[in-house]
Amino acid sequence: MKKIIPAVIILIIGFAVWYLSGGTGTETDIEKLSVHYIDVGQGDSIYITSGGEGMLIDCGESGDTDSVISYLDNMGVTKINYVVGTHPHSDHMGGMSKIIEHYDIGEVIVPHIHDSDTPTTKYYEKFLTACSVKGLSLTEAELGRKIEVGDAELKIIAPVSEDYSNANNYSVGFIMHHGDNSFIFTGDAEELAENEMIESGSLEDIDVYKAGHHGSDTSSSEDFLNIIKPDYAVISCGEGNSYGHPNDITIENLSKFTDKIYRTDIVGTVVFTSDGKELTVTEEKAQ
Ligand SMILES: [Zn+2]
Repeated sequence: MKKIIPAVIILIIGFAVWYLSGGTGTETDIEKLSVHYIDVGQGDSIYITSGGEGMLIDCGESGDTDSVISYLDNMGVTKINYVVGTHPHSDHMGGMSKIIEHYDIGEVIVPHIHDSDTPTTKYYEKFLTACSVKGLSLTEAELGRKIEVGDAELKIIAPVSEDYSNANNYSVGFIMHHGDNSFIFTGDAEELAENEMIESGSLEDIDVYKAGHHGSDTSSSEDFLNIIKPDYAVISCGEGNSYGHPNDITIENLSKFTDKIYRTDIVGTVVFTSDGKELTVTEEKAQ
């Protein structure tokens, strides 16, 4: 009996502290998150913002980067805390030099690329020059690194290896949590890189999936989808693109998990907003 009474008192005090500190109601204090899948035609550009901080993942082709800049300017963005170039292809990093020149930039994250694979394309050289003019060094994506953007928590899940024959597989990938909601971004990572993510044990059930490689059948493998089980999917691709993206098989496989599939070629820019509990979706054009 003597031992039970102190235990009860500790429990009561513990409950009182928990209750006074807000109990389970902490979600109401969370800074909202918005995720903008910006329509850049055949390419990718995603802007994540919470609590006044922001991350831009890719910027589309050089010509389409102008519309990303006007979109962000309209939002009042002047500083971007993190700029991520998922991999050196022009539909992801074509106008990255313009982004670097136009905004106050915190950190630039790119994948570690084998020396012999360092691109010598003009847009990439312009990007490197823009960074050095601004005194920005490039940070290589480090597997497992955690990054906070306001109240959103991101973790780098790819690339897992250091040497790929296909540049798509270098894509920097993230899982992001915001309260109860989760998102995954895998750039153009193909099945080989998806399998590495599976083997590394970093995948989990996810709410919102940005379909890998513009909905190509080289990505969104069944094994991958069976783990992430998306409730929503976003496909970033251009109307009438010559690659046939998204692939019918990908749409069919995604449809096994969700009928909430948003295509930028049909609905334009798609915005997800999270308050930590509920997710709301806004489309630029009605389906
Ligand atoms: Zn691409």
